[in-house]
Amino acid sequence: MSLIVQKYGGSSVADAESIKRVAKRIVETRKAGNDVVVAVSAMGDTTDELMDLADEVTPIQAPRELDMLLSSGERISMALLAMAIKALGHDARSFTGSQAGMITDSTHGAARIVDVTPVRLREALDEGAVVIVAGFQGFSRESRDITTLGRGGSDTTAVALAAALDADVCEIYTDVDGVFTSDPRVVKRAHKLDRITSEEMLELAGSGAKVLHIRAVEYARRHGVTLHVRSSFNNSEGTIVYDPERLPEGEAVEESVIAGVAVDLSQVKITVVGVPDVPGAAAKIFKIVAGTNANVDMIVQNVSAAATGRTDISFTVPKSDGEKAVQALSAAQETLGFQSLQYDDQIGKLSLVGAAMRSAAGISARLFEALYEAGINIEMISTSEIRISVVTRADSVNAAARAVHTAFDLDGDDDAVVYAGTGR
Ligand code: ADP
Ligand code: ASP
Ligand code: MG
Repeated sequence: MSLIVQKYGGSSVADAESIKRVAKRIVETRKAGNDVVVAVSAMGDTTDELMDLADEVTPIQAPRELDMLLSSGERISMALLAMAIKALGHDARSFTGSQAGMITDSTHGAARIVDVTPVRLREALDEGAVVIVAGFQGFSRESRDITTLGRGGSDTTAVALAAALDADVCEIYTDVDGVFTSDPRVVKRAHKLDRITSEEMLELAGSGAKVLHIRAVEYARRHGVTLHVRSSFNNSEGTIVYDPERLPEGEAVEESVIAGVAVDLSQVKITVVGVPDVPGAAAKIFKIVAGTNANVDMIVQNVSAAATGRTDISFTVPKSDGEKAVQALSAAQETLGFQSLQYDDQIGKLSLVGAAMRSAAGISARLFEALYEAGINIEMISTSEIRISVVTRADSVNAAARAVHTAFDLDGDDDAVVYAGTGR
């Protein structure tokens, strides 16, 4: 008998009909003789709607209460899914993250899983029940509070369950056929990848491809969990996310140079104008930014103007970190000696990812050429071993992704299918 972990995303359980459809799939897996553990997301856009509601009540968020609120979304879907499975004549039991033993640190809104103690899940499995676990949530022993794992975190719940229960398969069911060369909602001709290395998936997820939560990919890599990302709307094979180092000998797969193109509209650019060009200036600025826990991504420093001995330093951070970074810098304007601050929330980031970039020449030239031909201006550039990212205007980043996708011969023969979801 195999143990299969399945995760169903919000768009797969958006309404009563979808929940019944998913219940049927789960029952089929159970009937095939497998133990089944399911991690489920909140229905449709519930999490966004709860966040909007909180915002309406007050724009100043209390992180503990926000987690109490958001975790309620998954409680609804888990109970309904268990009911639907029972209605099909199979035993099923739902568990909150805390009942499932999903132990996290106490960082509200972005908690990390530190331990999984699935005692009650094992008992329920032994009794023959299908186990349904609320995704995205955990419990901190330290603060004794409910936590959430960050947006998209149900993927991480599934992977952590698969690792803790030593599952044979971890399937991530979503509203597209797998991992594509780009977001099919943006690049119509994106094509599905049959396989992708976890290293490339990590870069894509970190660069805005929300099909998998970045921490789910990290967790899977660390614990040797192979993921199968697939559609809950058909039975097609999806994408296997694997670690080449763990492949059985002789099973080497030929890598393509580019795995995909990701787009990220969730960052802002902050420019510190007129910084005295002296040793230690950057150190001071970024020490202050680091003090706010803002997650700095790209940095560009201009050449200083000879006449003034001053320079501009620009950097990007997630939108949610932007305000506090600006406030902290403003408060230190006198000691830092800069002239002014600029805040730009109209930027987009495009990233090109591929493991074989390490040894391929001319990739950046081809990228810049494609952007030039599409008439798109590049504002910032950064590279890692297997990724090149550029910042453009927000309203041209999607066109940039399409142009780059075509330039790297990634276009498929047909348009990609998106089965559900609002893309929110
Ligand atoms: P779920 O609710 O199932 O977790 P998400 O909305 O979190 O689904 O993730 C699936 C969505 O991710 C797709 O509908 C697609 O728009 C988006 N996406 C972004 N980049 C990619 C990519 N490279 N491959 C597939 N989907 C992607
Ligand atoms: N419901 C949560 C969210 O919308 C978690 C998830 O769907 O993975 O972010
Ligand atoms: Mg998701």
